Amino acid sequence: MGLIITKEPLKTSILNKKSFQVPIFKENDDDLKYNNKNSIIINELLNEAERKIKSCEYTETEKILQLAINFGSPYSAAKLGYNNLQGLNSTLKPNYALSAAYYLIALKFIKTIPNKEWDVNLILEVIEGLTELYRFHFNHQRDLLIWNHGIKMMKFIENTLKDPNVLMDKEIQKIKALKIHITFCLALTAEFESKFTSNYKEAVNLYYKCEQVGRCGIKVADKLIKKAHTKFRLLESRVPRVQPICATCNFEAKNLKAIWNLLVCSKCQTVACCSRECLKNHLNLHKKSN
Ligand SMILES: [Zn+2]
Ligand SMILES: [Zn+2]
Repeated sequence: MGLIITKEPLKTSILNKKSFQVPIFKENDDDLKYNNKNSIIINELLNEAERKIKSCEYTETEKILQLAINFGSPYSAAKLGYNNLQGLNSTLKPNYALSAAYYLIALKFIKTIPNKEWDVNLILEVIEGLTELYRFHFNHQRDLLIWNHGIKMMKFIENTLKDPNVLMDKEIQKIKALKIHITFCLALTAEFESKFTSNYKEAVNLYYKCEQVGRCGIKVADKLIKKAHTKFRLLESRVPRVQPICATCNFEAKNLKAIWNLLVCSKCQTVACCSRECLKNHLNLHKKSN
């Protein structure tokens, strides 16, 4: 199954056979905009969708959610992303291409909402879904376009979350969870890229960073930390070993944190130094030997 397609309509062959039209995710689609004014209509549609799903009318549910997307509802896009990721009983089979498209539409809507109004629950739901797609259903090479596009969106969210004015304290665990998910996806990307360059350093760094965020009490994210740790241990062995002793002053880095603070000499890549000063001295040796 090939995933999307950013500039042309989704090919019907990869879609479930549905009578209604599927909104298409386009990279430069300025029509996609969250619209506050439609919130009453959207709420009614969401309620209606809720009723339909309770009475197991899945096709109807999908149609209503589609309609809500047309009114600019990121919730509906996220819900359709989820439905297409997990499937609905036996009625709707998982469709990962569609799932990705809907999740990206949701993110696109979110991008147009002022930061202060961001719903962290919604963003987390979308990023959780995308992480699952990245881990189990995307193929980095085959689905490169959509892969990179998702990463771009995730980086945008990560950057926005750094702004302390954006979100409230009570969301802190969820923001942590978001950081874990996003860093994990970035690490996955670096890992795939490292297969061509044989340079695992970035992937190792990112998996480590993922661990460093720390547990957040949200199951899925905490599980990811464990996974990141395993990946870190696995890939770490492929990064060339440098003695954790400063080549200039013999300072020995004894814990992981101190080791990561060492500066590896870019010239010989076989030794590390404890500080810029020591590195400078070491580099002078290279100059003299030239
Ligand atoms: Zn030193
Ligand atoms: Zn050197």
